[in-house]
Amino acid sequence: MVSEKLDRVIKAVENGAVVVTVNKRLARYLSVRFEAAMVSSERAAWATPVIMPMLSWARSLLEDSWQEGRAVLITEARSSALWKKIIEEDRVIARHKVLISEGAWQAAASAYGLMKEYCAEDLGDEIYLGAEAMAFKRWSREYDKALKRLGFMDYGELVGVVCKAVASGEVALPGKVVFAGFDEVTPQRAAFIRALQQAGTEVDHWPSEPRLALDEEAILPEDAKERIECKNFRSTTQEVRAAARWIREVSASDKEGRVRVGVIVPELAGYRDIILREFRAELSPASVLPWEDIQDVFNISLGSALVAEPLVRGALDILAIGVWPEDISKMGGILLSPFLRATEEEGLALAALDGEFKRRKFLKIGLRDIRGAAAARDNESLKGVVGRLDRWIKDLEGAHKQALPAFWAERFSGLLTALGWYGGGNSLTSREYQTLESWRSLLAEFAGLGDITGLISRQDAVARLRAMAAEKIFQIETVTDSCGAVSEGCGAVSDGQEMSVEVLGILEASGQDFDHIWLMGAHDGALPGPAAPNPFIPVELQRRLGMPRATPEKMLGFAAVSLKRIFESARNFVVSYPLEIEGKEVGLSPLLKGVGKAEEGLAPSQTGCRSSSLKADTHAAFALEDMPLDEKIPLSNLEAAGLRGGTSVIKDQSECPFRAFAKYRLGARAVTLPEDGLDSAERGTIVHEALEHFWKEVGGSLRLRELKDQGELGASIGAAVGRALKGYYAKRLPKRLIDMEGERVEALVAEWLEIELKRTPFTVVQTERGEKVTIGGLSITARPDRLDELENGAKVVIDYKTGNCTKNGWLPDKLTEPQMLLYGIGSDFDAIAFASLKLPKTKFVGISKDDGMLPGVKSLENENRWREQIEGVRNWDDLMERWREALEQVASDFVAGSSSVAPSSQDACKYCELPILCRIFEAGVFDSDGSEVGQ
Ligand code: SF4
Repeated sequence: MVSEKLDRVIKAVENGAVVVTVNKRLARYLSVRFEAAMVSSERAAWATPVIMPMLSWARSLLEDSWQEGRAVLITEARSSALWKKIIEEDRVIARHKVLISEGAWQAAASAYGLMKEYCAEDLGDEIYLGAEAMAFKRWSREYDKALKRLGFMDYGELVGVVCKAVASGEVALPGKVVFAGFDEVTPQRAAFIRALQQAGTEVDHWPSEPRLALDEEAILPEDAKERIECKNFRSTTQEVRAAARWIREVSASDKEGRVRVGVIVPELAGYRDIILREFRAELSPASVLPWEDIQDVFNISLGSALVAEPLVRGALDILAIGVWPEDISKMGGILLSPFLRATEEEGLALAALDGEFKRRKFLKIGLRDIRGAAAARDNESLKGVVGRLDRWIKDLEGAHKQALPAFWAERFSGLLTALGWYGGGNSLTSREYQTLESWRSLLAEFAGLGDITGLISRQDAVARLRAMAAEKIFQIETVTDSCGAVSEGCGAVSDGQEMSVEVLGILEASGQDFDHIWLMGAHDGALPGPAAPNPFIPVELQRRLGMPRATPEKMLGFAAVSLKRIFESARNFVVSYPLEIEGKEVGLSPLLKGVGKAEEGLAPSQTGCRSSSLKADTHAAFALEDMPLDEKIPLSNLEAAGLRGGTSVIKDQSECPFRAFAKYRLGARAVTLPEDGLDSAERGTIVHEALEHFWKEVGGSLRLRELKDQGELGASIGAAVGRALKGYYAKRLPKRLIDMEGERVEALVAEWLEIELKRTPFTVVQTERGEKVTIGGLSITARPDRLDELENGAKVVIDYKTGNCTKNGWLPDKLTEPQMLLYGIGSDFDAIAFASLKLPKTKFVGISKDDGMLPGVKSLENENRWREQIEGVRNWDDLMERWREALEQVASDFVAGSSSVAPSSQDACKYCELPILCRIFEAGVFDSDGSEVGQ
């Protein structure tokens, strides 16, 4: 069936017919098939075939019959600039202060094309009903006037102009034209076909005559149940993953030679990112390694916006920097950009500079600040940077002037080259090289817009370039040949087999044949898809003329015809759909009910088909590897002498040995973005310091009671908080902000002291005093926030907490809060508690030797549920001993060099700053939100 169909078109081309296709992809496919047929028939030479998309052929006809004074076709960039300008300058909209959405120009441009294609303009002015249609009428008139003035012709007019040229005999025509892959004949196309026939050209349609609608029975092949497997999956990710592994299986099992696999997705835009991620992981696993420059072994028909390419985003970010200081995150992005560093050393020096700005809590920095800091560092690696920054600053001197786009394009190009934006120290990957070419052509298009934009500022120029890059679709050319087949030796996915994997939307699949097709996302919301009439053309008119997407009936007809075509293009099919999309349940498309009941698709891990992803391979390899993961590097004396971090070392070691190793021995720290105002750590410190000042002044419960009774407590709290805030007033923060923080802390401390007033008499004997302790060969300073002594001499260790706290972190077998316990290494204590200063309810959270030592804190004996979690502890002395043993163990593990990635719980990872280093989430143990991975 397949070869017969292809044979027909190949024979027509061989006999001199021109083939005009519905899209570029089909033209490429048929050209490759034709060449292959010629090669296999052992011809020595053959005429170059004319197989091209319809508009390209129409344009070539016009160019061949060139006449002086005829308008030239407008480029997409010019056309969009013109539409935007017309809408921006619409006085009616300005007068009525109507908000127009950013994409309005695209809908208007599309309406303009539809009106031409469906010959609706001839229907007169009465079709323009409603405010939107009236606005569109105004804009299209302006657009026509501008085209005339500038000497351009819109693509919508092209076929009409060619028809006239054909009718007047100005064009040389072939004897036969085959229209390939068209499901529908629009009025404009019908007029073109008539003009060709009247001029004596034979017209044929391939693979069949356009069909406007079908009854549902006719869609599926007769043996649908045998040839079509139907599956559903719990999620789109599982569906895509299963398809990726199916492609591997299909390619391995097919021994006939070259295998063509089509993955057809009605809603490709929604699936695109998941397909890219999962197919790359399965079909070209090494592509995750950037230095390998591995290209995809599948072709996806939907490109992404050029602005999403890192190289272009980097260029636009550089150009958007002005003379004024910019947000630290924006400038940080520039300092860390891989496209600016000339050498690896320079990159590291720039990253260090970025870290310094962030640690010093700069919220904004300018190019001059960076230049000053780089020059002051006296770092050989930054010498080149200083010179480039000088050039950049100089370039911005004339930034305020108004100029034509051609001036700015040249200026931008010069600046980027001078900064070493591309190339730098690295050679470009193939993707980057293609991106660079696209960027250059974008810049050239922008430079040619002067007759539309007039003089513009630098800022406006960058904004327009960014918008153009967002509108331009970037489609990388893969290693596959022009019809998508993977070339030999470049990483085909099956053993020794060549194969071609095409991922296509429904329209792009038109006319192509495959060995296997997976129709993905075939659910009732996508087949048929929802109607989406153009907002600028009255819906009734769109319905009457049968415009695309105008009505549900039109969408149903389109889906039916497309499915029929798909089921005629392969031998074997899988149809799949997810059971849920964005939280909404979906079912199989009603058009496919003839394929029978869908089977539940198994998650790829359950099918027995092993993943080829690098991640899976890497982790499978980990499981087999004994060395060198068990090798420990003990703490040297030199390291021990310079160890910083105090009791946090023990806390980190008990929460995760790798974290402690990375932080205290490798010096790993995340650089966080400074916050506007006070960050949570600073706010916690202010509360700690205020209470420290307060108790140093007040000394204990006796004086606290006196202050309360004499009405002086508020003043005393205010004085303590004032002292804690003193340093903050000196910082570059608004006074009002510090005052407000002061009011908050005063209220919090006052509330807390109401709890302290309920206690049995006590004296604060120590605040924030460090005590050296040696444990497990480690010498560190224990510094509890406070040590109180009760009337009976009992000692109570207290730590202030402004965040969440629980005493479960003191369970000896699951020690995650060991800092306060360290105090007990040198001296015993009788109660331990967090002072939980977290609104709405402040309270003590702790455990004590006897009842009544602290309000709300039970004795060990009565704290049954907590005590039952510790085996063999009968009394307080036992507990102290168990704590000492547990601390000893944690400390000696650290000294011995234990560094396994073994977090005590999911919570340990939730707020950790090092997941990038330990890569726990990549290992698939937890999701990045800290929850355990189910599958
Ligand atoms: S993210 Fe988790 S496993 Fe990784 S270092 Fe932090 S605590 Fe350890």
